[in-house]
Amino acid sequence: MVTAIDAWAQMVKSEPTVEDAWRALEGVVDPEIPVLTIGDLGILRDVRLFGTRLNVDITPTYSGCPAMETIRSDIGQALADAGFEEVTVRTVLDEAWTTDWISERGRRRLHEYGIAPPSLTSTSKPVRCPQCAADHVRVVSEFGSTACKALMVCEVCREPFDHFKVL
Ligand SMILES: [Zn+2]
Repeated sequence: MVTAIDAWAQMVKSEPTVEDAWRALEGVVDPEIPVLTIGDLGILRDVRLFGTRLNVDITPTYSGCPAMETIRSDIGQALADAGFEEVTVRTVLDEAWTTDWISERGRRRLHEYGIAPPSLTSTSKPVRCPQCAADHVRVVSEFGSTACKALMVCEVCREPFDHFKVL
């Protein structure tokens, strides 16, 4: 016999869905560039639910990128918080990540954050200063605050800025 209380308990304990997983993963950001979610970065490749087991596929930006370990554990934590008990995070390397996978929203957020976004590899537009949009800029250091960014300076407004290098 199913009592009203049993039915209520079942409703409350409803299993999280794959949509819940995507929503939870929207909160996982790149620790080095916290305005970018892993979805914006394009490293979140696939999320699949098999019964109660959730598989998450990610492609690392750079092999040996120190941020990837943090991202992996943040994914596990976000999904545990969303009620997933069995989570497998797989690294998929069938195609190498490229900055072309960064979403439109991600590029806009980089710009707003003061980082010149990478241009698409097919266009190779000149780098523009995120402050004044001048393209009269020069590289100060190939390695800025992180390996994926170059430190540049604008010759017009004199402001230094990071450029997310095209890869
Ligand atoms: Zn400028």
